[in-house]
Amino acid sequence: PYTKGLVASLPLLGARARHGRHKLKEITGVVPAVTAFPDGCRFNPRCYARTEICVAQDPGVTPLPQDGLVRCHHHE
Ligand code: SF4
Repeated sequence: PYTKGLVASLPLLGARARHGRHKLKEITGVVPAVTAFPDGCRFNPRCYARTEICVAQDPGVTPLPQDGLVRCHHHE
């Protein structure tokens, strides 16, 4: 979910920008200092999909079936 938010905040450039001006989407909150990450998932203070487990446990690395890795309790 946090990565989806980051991708949604990208500005439209080139041909995509011609479809009209849109306000950039933003993720609320502030990036924590590297010396003060929260417990659990380090993105939990700013994630719309946060649940109790996100605050209590750091999500481990999970391999995806096709390729790649994910660190999220609620990945799709
Ligand atoms: S683990 Fe929880 S807080 Fe972290 S990105 Fe996934 S849903 Fe959001």
